[in-house]
Amino acid sequence: MTAVTAGKGLRDHVQALEFWQTLIDLVKYRSTADEPDPPLHATAEVIAGLFRSVGLSSADVITISHEGKTSAPLVYADQRSDTKGAPTVLLYAHYDVQPADETKWTVTKPFVPKEVTANGDTRLYGRGAADDKSGVVLHLGALKALRDTWSKLPINVKLVVEGEEESSSVLDSYVDAHPEDPRFQADLIIVADTGNLAVGQPALTSTLRGIVAVDVTVKTLAAEVHSGMYGGPAPDAFMTLVRLLSTLHDANGDVAVAGLTRFEHDWAPVREEQYRKDAGVEPGVGLVGTGTIAQRLFGRPSVNVVGLRGAPSMDRPANVLTPEVTARISVRLAPNQDPDAALKALREHIETHAPEAVVRQVVPVSLGQGFAAYQGPHHAAVETALKTAYKTDAVAQSGQGGSIPLVSALHAANPSSDIVLWGCEEPLANIHGNDESVSRSELEHMTLAEALLLDALAAPAR
Ligand SMILES: [Zn+2]
Repeated sequence: MTAVTAGKGLRDHVQALEFWQTLIDLVKYRSTADEPDPPLHATAEVIAGLFRSVGLSSADVITISHEGKTSAPLVYADQRSDTKGAPTVLLYAHYDVQPADETKWTVTKPFVPKEVTANGDTRLYGRGAADDKSGVVLHLGALKALRDTWSKLPINVKLVVEGEEESSSVLDSYVDAHPEDPRFQADLIIVADTGNLAVGQPALTSTLRGIVAVDVTVKTLAAEVHSGMYGGPAPDAFMTLVRLLSTLHDANGDVAVAGLTRFEHDWAPVREEQYRKDAGVEPGVGLVGTGTIAQRLFGRPSVNVVGLRGAPSMDRPANVLTPEVTARISVRLAPNQDPDAALKALREHIETHAPEAVVRQVVPVSLGQGFAAYQGPHHAAVETALKTAYKTDAVAQSGQGGSIPLVSALHAANPSSDIVLWGCEEPLANIHGNDESVSRSELEHMTLAEALLLDALAAPAR
């Protein structure tokens, strides 16, 4: 069978998209951790059954335990091919969803799925329709299309459908601590939990930034004192902290911490106007730093204060000098920066730029490795699959300003494997927001792309 006829056969199978109704049904499950009694187990059981129905007879609901914590129910499968030396793919998605404020939804209620057809495309509205029940359905559709064309399973397929991606995930810390666990090892890992830059325009998410957050405590006085009696020579802790914080940026707003690195990549441009709109930057407020928006958002460090403890309060008398204050500083890192090296750089900066003796402690509160896609042996096949599915020559490279801890952990566990980040979460999907939705055409194209990629992976083994 040539690649073209394989592609055509798969296209026909995927166009039927028999799992659209499955997606509608899955959206009805209120699988969000903030529900009083979320139906996580029921959702996981249904999904395991669906994967068994497409040939993953090993699909089962399990939990992962780590450091005294047990994960939410997780769907896991490890389906072995009879073919010797067959490559292994690991498919990832999550069935838990973000909480939703019903009062702010306009098209439908969050767990009452509703289809709306306009401009030649149908969108399904509902919480999790895109993030990330579409990822679950995408894997299902790809496997089903292949099962209909393959006589036997030519690749090993591992499946992870997690139930706590949106809250704190035991899986992340487990894989991070146990990179040797064979359950999470594969030659190719497909994380179906991102999306294109626009409907119909394929993109690969090729970078994620890392993170370091620290709590810095500044102490200048033994106790609160009266500003009239002592203010002047005696420094208050808050003003001292502010002066220290101001050294973290230079005059242009670029991060001024020596040792924090930058990463260059050919990301698709991010339009300033769109970025301002998405971020809700008030009219007339200037943006921080230099370089393109994509460079600043995806490749360079950013520094923000995300918490304060002991700051002066309006509820206290107006004549009090603050003796001690703690700030939580969050630093997003270049995708390839080592978080330990970044922490060291941040500590050194704080120690050299603070006035003598004021810094009492610098306590790390979170460290996360970023990710720069390893352009490994399957990279060309990944791009070809997208181009064939979308009938286009171009695949844009996009980045994410935030981290996906599991991706970093999987990357550490599989340092020479390709990790593909894709999915149906394009901007109109408005994931985490109100009126979340997914495009049927995106789901169809992405399902086909994944089927084509798996078929290409299987080709040498057939
Ligand atoms: Zn997600």
